[in-house]
Formats: sequence, C-alpha cells, structure tokens
Amino acid sequence: MAYSYQAPVSQTLFDRASLVTPGGVNSPVRAFRAVGGTPRFMVSGTGPYLTDADGREYVDLVCSWGPMILGHSHPEVIAAVQEAVARGTSFGTPGEGEVALAEEIVARVEPVEQVRLVSSGTEATMSAIRLARGFTGRAKVVKFAGCYHGHVDALLAAAGSGVATFGLPDTPGVTGAQAGDTIVLPYNDLDAVRAAFAAHPGEIACVITEASPGNMGVVPPVDGFNAGLKAICAADGALYISDEVMTGFRTSKAGWFGVDGVRPDLMTFGKVMGGGFPAAAFGGRADVMAYLAPAGPVYQAGTLSGNPIATAAGLAQLRLLDDAAYAKVDAVSAEIRGLVGDALTKEGVAHTVQSASNMFSVFFTDQPVRNYEDAKRQEAFRFTAFFHSLLSQGVYLPPSAFESWFVSTAHDTRAVERIAAALPAAARAASEATA
Ligand code: PLP
Repeated sequence: MAYSYQAPVSQTLFDRASLVTPGGVNSPVRAFRAVGGTPRFMVSGTGPYLTDADGREYVDLVCSWGPMILGHSHPEVIAAVQEAVARGTSFGTPGEGEVALAEEIVARVEPVEQVRLVSSGTEATMSAIRLARGFTGRAKVVKFAGCYHGHVDALLAAAGSGVATFGLPDTPGVTGAQAGDTIVLPYNDLDAVRAAFAAHPGEIACVITEASPGNMGVVPPVDGFNAGLKAICAADGALYISDEVMTGFRTSKAGWFGVDGVRPDLMTFGKVMGGGFPAAAFGGRADVMAYLAPAGPVYQAGTLSGNPIATAAGLAQLRLLDDAAYAKVDAVSAEIRGLVGDALTKEGVAHTVQSASNMFSVFFTDQPVRNYEDAKRQEAFRFTAFFHSLLSQGVYLPPSAFESWFVSTAHDTRAVERIAAALPAAARAASEATA
C-alpha cells in the first residue's frame, strides 16, 4: 500500500540499523513487517506521548508493550532512577532494593510466597519451567496455541492442527528434542487439556498459560478455564504456571490473580514491575521455590538479576499503582474502546473489541475470538489500513493485529480527544481496505 506521509529521519536510521542489525531491529515486531512502512525511531516520551526522530508526536497506545502504565518519564520514577544511578549501577551482590521489590510483589500477589528476580520475561518463564520439571521430576509441558511466553526454546512450538499434538518447532534452531516434550493445545478448551492428561498420566510437569492472553490480541479465559486448569493439574500432581508477564500489576494491583482469584503454583512477571527497565520475576509456592539454587538443586542465576536501577524503577512504579491509579487506567481504556467501536460501527466495519481489565484489542471480525484459530480468521488487511491512518494522524498503535493495546494513567482528556479526532478517517480507511 502507498503511504501518504514520510519519516525521512527514521528511514535513514532504519537503513543504518539494517546494515548492522538483522532486520534493523532488536525485537522483530518493531520492524513493522506485519503492516509495512518505516518503523518509527523514537527519541523521547512524556506522559501519553512519544516523539520520533522526525519530530512528530504520537499518542502512544503501546506503552512499551505494557510497562509504562504511569506514562513516559513519570517524575517520581525518574527521580528514583536518578537517585539509584548516583549510588552506582551494579554490584553483583545482594542489595536492599531487590529485597524491597520482592517484598512488594509478595505483599500484592498472595500466591507468591517467595520470588526470584531476573531480567526478562523470557528468563522468568524459562526458569519457572525448569523449576517445575525439577520439582516434579517430569518432562512434559502443556502450553496453548497463541500464548507467547518469550523466546524459550521449549515454548516456541505451536499446534499443527487444533487437536492435542506434540509440538513441532516453530522456528529453525529449536530442535525436535527441545520442542518434543511440549504439548500444544487450543486455548479455552478444557476437554483438550483433559485428553492430554489422560494420554500422559504422571508425565506432565506443568501447564503454562498466559493468565489472560494478550499475545494473539486480547483473548480472555472463558469462565472457569483457569480454575479448570488448576484443578486438572492438582489432580495429576502437575504444576499450574500462570504467566503474568503482561497482566501482572497491570490488570489489577495483584494482576490477573486479583481478577479471577485462581491460585497458581508458580507465576511469572515482567513489564510493569520493571518500570521501563529490564526486571522480571518468577515466584509462587514456598515448597516449590525451595528447589531453587542455592536453597535447592535446580540451578538458576543472573549477573544483573535484581539490578539496583531496575529495582528502584520498578519499586517506585509499583508504589504509585494504588486503587485510584487502576481505576483511572480502566476508565480511560473503556473510553477509548467505546470510541474505537463507535467509529468502526459508523463505517460498517465488522469488528469485535475484546478486553481484559484495561488491556484491549480490536479484531476485524464480528465473531467473538476465543482462541488463536478464531483470531487468525479476522481481516487483518483492514487493521493495516487502520494502523497507517492512525499513525499518519499521530496515534501510535501496536504494529500488528495480534497484539494488545496499552494505556496509562497519563492518558488524559487531551490525549483521548486526539485519538477521537483521528478515528473517523481510520475507520473509513479500514472500511475501504482491500485484501
Ligand atoms: N510472557 C508474556 C505473557 C509476554 O507477553 C512476554 C513478552 O511480551 C514474555 C513472556 C517475554 O517477556 P520478555 O519480552 O521480557 O522476554
């Protein structure tokens, strides 16, 4: 498709980047491959706005893929970071900041009796799975198609056919052996989970699931799904791992656990808890966490784990996230969802807006989306037109139809009005788009 606007400085940076970095980016979705066009190189962020290298300002509906729940450059987070930086950047020893962050997590999320800090969500899920295997002495892992848990070898596997099947590697570089103990099942289908456990009694170490998935677009668990997973795991002696890297400290003070109350054996966190820095965690039952080195035999470590700057940023952000902050993010999310739905309805564009607390996304289909197969049935070409229209009008959406949109406490009336003003043309572009 032709783009009616240019981003010459971003394009020059992208050309330079492409010479020295594969695809020009350090994480694939940033390259805009799903929507085409020039990825925007951002130079600064303030509140709900990002400014790119060409000097254009955007209302940000990505929020760094979730972490920036207080908006960009929140003064109290910046002050905490500056104060921490002045004391040194990394010691390779324990420090008080990491204790305080762990205490904050344990206080907020009741099933977390003990927690280990790491630097990325990928590390958190990889470590949680290793721990589950070490604790249970079993090899197999159940995951769901469309759920993303980071680029862990064993979890980069997707179902071939919608029924229970052994995982086939999703990417070159992951061997059959690495993915062969992964069972990939359709999301929101407890019968498939029961069938997998019936086929492999006593062999499954854990079920890992996004607490409420956001990586195939927002597809919340149907009533009873997470509780059913927990019950099936408990009956077989497997662990139930709830991946809250995206939902943790975003969908409520206690993340998705605060919404559905289903008690996982292990949980993983990232994004919001790092305040925009690389901090993540996994935690849960004390008897399971006791298997982790140096307390127990399952090895796990990290040079920068519990980094003092990251923990200071995360702690400052979490301490600002009280009930009023969540009420504000939930309200602005509802307002934007309403505006998007109205604009698309007015133009007669088939769509479904799905949400999980303040996380939401728009599927270009009028059918409810309950799993990855449903999500893939949407008319993604309409999203491309919608995305580029909004981008050209200064609204920055995730550059893919299969992602959650994120808002923050900083998304105020002015930011919402800018989105509202841009939506009619974007909805028209979606309606006129052709495959
Ligand atoms: N788990 C979930 C649910 C995620 O959404 C992500 C990242 O988007 C990860 C794990 C991986 O986290 P990271 O990108 O920090 O490695």
